[in-house]
Amino acid sequence: MSEAERVTVLTGAGISTDSGIPDFRGPNGVWTRNPEAERMATLQDYLADPEVRRRSWQSRKEHPVWTAEPNAGHRALVDLEKTGKLVAVITQNIDGLHQRAGSTKVIEVHGTVHWVMCMTCETRTPMADQLARVEAGDPDPACTLCGGILKSATISFGQQLDNDVLDAAAQAAMECDLFLAVGSSLTVRPAAGLCDVAVDAGARLVVINAEPTPYDDLAVAVLRDPISEILPALLEV
Ligand code: NAD
Repeated sequence: MSEAERVTVLTGAGISTDSGIPDFRGPNGVWTRNPEAERMATLQDYLADPEVRRRSWQSRKEHPVWTAEPNAGHRALVDLEKTGKLVAVITQNIDGLHQRAGSTKVIEVHGTVHWVMCMTCETRTPMADQLARVEAGDPDPACTLCGGILKSATISFGQQLDNDVLDAAAQAAMECDLFLAVGSSLTVRPAAGLCDVAVDAGARLVVINAEPTPYDDLAVAVLRDPISEILPALLEV
């Protein structure tokens, strides 16, 4: 850390587990415990099946994100930004906790659960407004402008990532000399491939994750400690 001049960080669900938001593939992950939940994250099923949408709206309503607070891991990345070394935090998370903690250089490659998008006219509305409709008894609220299907403004399986956002993430991966991959199983492409982009451009890769990842062999160091402990300790160096 002390040698690095430009640091880019890729975060995944593991940085938010200590804020009470379960990951997908860790031992207590949402999909590890209930593989059926994966259907709710698949675009084709979501668009085709009203029952999947109804369950999705219920699970959004009850999502731990609405009460979650940033933890020491998120705050450590704010401190890193204050040093001037941070190129960007590229996050696969949709919870908005980096911004809540105070990070400003955040690239959300998988979108955000705080907004809703119409799948027909692409109008964006605040999630809070749509959840109020669900609370009021509409189990699958439709777009008030065009009647289209509404979905959280997150990237589902089978859905294209935003090209501009992906370009910005690749640029940040190429601009750093140290790339930290934090709390991600590094199994979702193209986000995980940013590790290759960074290493190919000459950066050193450090993986911080409780479980093995496919990128461990490429890393100069692999740290298995809990993120909310190791990240503040690492950034003090
Ligand atoms: P993942 O669930 O595939 O992997 C998370 C990894 O973090 C696991 O390998 C786990 O062992 C590790 N981990 C969990 N808690 C940890 C801790 N405290 N310390 C160290 N390691 C820890 O997550 P992913 O790679 O981000 O991919 C999942 C996809 O699901 C992403 O696209 C993301 O958008 C989405 N997701 C987001 C959230 C969120 O926004 N908080 C939560 C769940 C899933």
